[in-house]
Formats: sequence, structure tokens, C-alpha cells
Amino acid sequence: MSPCRDTSLCHAAICVQTRQYRAKRASRAWHGTCFISIDPFYARRRPLFRPGRDSGITRPKRERSGRHPGCWRHRTMALLRTNTSETHIFHRHMLSVALLLLWIVCLVLTVERNTQAPLFVLHENSSRVTRLAQHDWRRASDWLAGRKYAVLTFDDGPYGQGVDEQILDVLRKHHAHAIFFVICNHLDKADPGLLSEFERSGHVIGNHSYDHLKLTKLSAPELHQQIEGCSERIAMATGHRPAYFRPPWGITSAVVKQAAESSGMQQVLWNANSQDSWQNKPEQILHWSLEQTEDESILLMHSKPTTVAVLDETLTKLEERGFEFVLPGQLSAERSYD
Ligand SMILES: [Zn+2]
Repeated sequence: MSPCRDTSLCHAAICVQTRQYRAKRASRAWHGTCFISIDPFYARRRPLFRPGRDSGITRPKRERSGRHPGCWRHRTMALLRTNTSETHIFHRHMLSVALLLLWIVCLVLTVERNTQAPLFVLHENSSRVTRLAQHDWRRASDWLAGRKYAVLTFDDGPYGQGVDEQILDVLRKHHAHAIFFVICNHLDKADPGLLSEFERSGHVIGNHSYDHLKLTKLSAPELHQQIEGCSERIAMATGHRPAYFRPPWGITSAVVKQAAESSGMQQVLWNANSQDSWQNKPEQILHWSLEQTEDESILLMHSKPTTVAVLDETLTKLEERGFEFVLPGQLSAERSYD
């Protein structure tokens, strides 16, 4: 507001306003309203003008003109004016989109958190598992939460000397379940109740042949004895026949696979190898286990002391990477999608 030096030349209203302005300017209450009580941020940035005390301080031009940018009212009006700009409209829409996405993420995470874990079946190539057909919400939830799944398998047991019990203890600690592919002639020297203890703990017993021979080199009767003989031996120990078969060293053929399927088993290979069949250093077993395990992997390990030495650390580090340890359902991938 411009100063009114000659009231006779001014419009009456302006003079009235000018007088009111000067009256307010002389009042500490006016300054208190604008600079102290309502806008402490502005009061910190601008020195408080105190008429009669700080006579050397000059009021800024914008304040002398009657516009008080520090006042909440003027700042609010300025904000409202900018609200009509295209930039603000764009930002407002972006904010809406961001809030919508955040809501969807929260919905996915909360809805799927307490639902049942996904079901897995063997992939048709037998070297990994795949999800049973289910709603994509679960897949999205797992992706957002960083959850991954792997199947743990232990070959060549029972080892004896307490190694099998140590494996059970570590798995129990991590609430993990595994498939134990046993060599049936190892059962001769094992505790008769060991396989039943495996199953009571929620693990699965698989057939790894009777004598761990190269099955592709065997005649039909010998192959039958190696596969069927071991299944019968397992059935005697557990009360039921095994559902999974793993050929020794993973060496298989169409004939071997057909023989396993004729005995009511699915062939299970692997796509992640801990390399513990030949590595003697536990840290190397840990390295390869972490290096090769991916989502929906089947991890190959063996029932042996060097593997037990790093099993706890291996599972801990995999869990830190979001892994949960699951068992495949006893359906093939092809049948499950019928
Ligand atoms: Zn083996």
C-alpha cells in the first residue's frame, strides 16, 4: 500500500486504510501476529522489527507495501494461486498414482501374508520344481516380499556315526524339510528306526537304488532289482513305497526313467549342486550351495560330515536371501495343469 502523504488528494477509503496500517505498524500486537505467534519460521529468517527499540532496523519493501509474505494467510494465498498451474496438476496426479500403487503393494503384502504356502510340483525336466497353478496374487506377493523357494535333497544316506541325526537337528532348527535319497544297502548298518524318524520329522524318503551302480549299464533284470528291490526295502522300513527316485550320479536314460515310473516313482534330478560329493572343504560346499541355488531350485547335498559342518550356515544364509525350503507335491507338472 502506498503512503498517503496528502490525505486531501487521496480517496477516502485509501486514507482510512493507510491510517489503519500506520496504527497497526506502531503496535507491537500487529508484529506479534505476523512474525511471532503464527509464523515462527519467518521470525527466524527475518529480524523482528520493534518500533521504538530497534530504530536502526529498516523494514523490507514488501512489508512496507502492506504485503506480508511471512504471514500464513499470504503464503496460503500464494500456494493456492500456484495450485492452478499445470505443474502442480501434474504433480498432484503423480501423487495420486503413487498412492494407488502403494495401496496395491500393501494390499498384496497383507492379503497374501497369512495364506497357505504355494504348492510345488516337479517340473517336467525333473531338475527343478514349479508352482502348481494358482492365483497370480501369490506370485506377485512373493516377488514383492523377496520370497524364494528351494527343495533340499540329501543323497547316499544313511551315513551313520550320528551324521544323519545332526542333519535332522539342523533341519528342525530351520523348520525345513528335505528329501533323503537313501542307498538301500546302507540300511543294513543303520538304526532300523531311522527312516521312520525321518518321516515323523516331516521329511521324505526317496529311492537312490540298492547298490549305487551305474544303472544305464545294467540289464533289465538287474535294473529292476536295483530299483524295485530298494523300493520294497524302504516299504518294509516305513510301511509305504517311496514316490521319488534319483539315479546314482544323476546318470539316467529313458529306460531307467521308465523303470522308475513303472515302480510308481517320479525321477528327481537337480539344478543346484553343493559340490559336496568331491569337495572336502566345508567353506567350498557353502560357496557352491549359495552360488547355485535359485528360486525353485532343487539343491543336491549328501549325508556326510563335511556337509553337516556348514549346513546350519548354508541354510541361515539362504534364509537371509529370502529362501523357504519346501517339498514338491506328488503330482507331475503336466497332470497338475490338466
Ligand atoms: Zn549318490
